[in-house]
Amino acid sequence: MKYSQLFSKTLKQVPHDGESINAKLLVQAGFVRQEMAGVYSWLPLGLRVLRKIEQIVREEMDAVGGQELLMPMLHPKANWVQTGGWDSIDVLFKLNSRTGNEYALGQSEEEIVTPLVMSRVQSYKNLPVQVYQIHWKFRDELRAKSGVMRGREFLMKDMYSFHADEKDFLRFYKLVKEAYLNIYKRIGLTAKVTEASGGSFSKKISYEFMVLTDAGEDDILYCEKCDFCVNVEIAKVNVGDTCERCGRGELKQARASEVGNVFDLGQKYPKDFDLTFVDEKGKKHHPWMGCYGIGISRAVGVIVEASHDDRGMIWPASVAPMDVHLISLRAKDSKTQGEIDQAAQEIYDGLLNMGIEVLWDDRADATPGQKFADADLIGIPLRMVISEKTLKEKSVEWKERASEKAQLIKREDVLKKIRSV
Ligand SMILES: [Zn+2]
Repeated sequence: MKYSQLFSKTLKQVPHDGESINAKLLVQAGFVRQEMAGVYSWLPLGLRVLRKIEQIVREEMDAVGGQELLMPMLHPKANWVQTGGWDSIDVLFKLNSRTGNEYALGQSEEEIVTPLVMSRVQSYKNLPVQVYQIHWKFRDELRAKSGVMRGREFLMKDMYSFHADEKDFLRFYKLVKEAYLNIYKRIGLTAKVTEASGGSFSKKISYEFMVLTDAGEDDILYCEKCDFCVNVEIAKVNVGDTCERCGRGELKQARASEVGNVFDLGQKYPKDFDLTFVDEKGKKHHPWMGCYGIGISRAVGVIVEASHDDRGMIWPASVAPMDVHLISLRAKDSKTQGEIDQAAQEIYDGLLNMGIEVLWDDRADATPGQKFADADLIGIPLRMVISEKTLKEKSVEWKERASEKAQLIKREDVLKKIRSV
């Protein structure tokens, strides 16, 4: 992609809505545009990040046997009345139709998925079932804040599992926990798992996946020596206590941001809809359910909060909008300019042929300072510069976004070197 043709450019002005670092950097770098509080358009660079996270999540959910489907965002009121959610969930978005009917916009989909899955499950032989979707969700927040981390509309992966009993749910939960930890590692985040009591009446117990970041909304206590971790709000332990799990570590306190959760739903929803399966002896039972969420648009914000400096964002390679940010600088005379442009074109074509994604800042009217500032703001992991100076050395300047050091690499070695990183 040539920067001159990129639809959404960086903004010179820092947006006023600078209450959170992720909103400020994502808007300024042209990754998103805020349409109203808590609602964003995802522009080409931002959408690429969103899609990469989505794909990693999809691969890990498929690996534990999840089957992807797509359920509606618009839900009939009757299903929400049946579960009690219509009156008890204050963030539920409710719509009135001119037909006189009322609807809800999904903020979670137990109300749809339970009757859907149970229409295909009659016997214990049909269980377990695990299905998921990656879809937009809605929350009627009074105050949307924290940029893309807490929107009124957000992209989420939600998986639901159905089991013959709680033991089977716990077996499956362990698989999902490992898959979640893989996901966070792959997208460049270090997550810890807390165990917490459920947030609403229907939820027995929940597991929260937390990333340590000063921008977080929660305080957690964690052990440095093992994986013990609890939310301070519910903790029976204190900072400085010896860890009760390993008996060795001391508990530390940190700010953290929730990036995923698991709810043990028990039999609530199948009971609400009176949906059952029959066991080997022909006896009817309500299945046991689990719900597993990961906020995908939220993860974009958490990554920015966890990985930036005073010049801009620093994307982990796995979710970066592009792999390489190529910059060609202006020359004093047109002959040298032609040589720079040709060298840049060759590198650009060579990288594209290798399947490497390149943003080429080919602008004729931007100063070197503007190009470097934009590269730092956008935060692509690897920057290559071709200038009069590098031309003389038959080289390109090679610099990683996360490092201060630049080096000259012979042009003929660039494609070889990129294969090794
Ligand atoms: Zn411990």
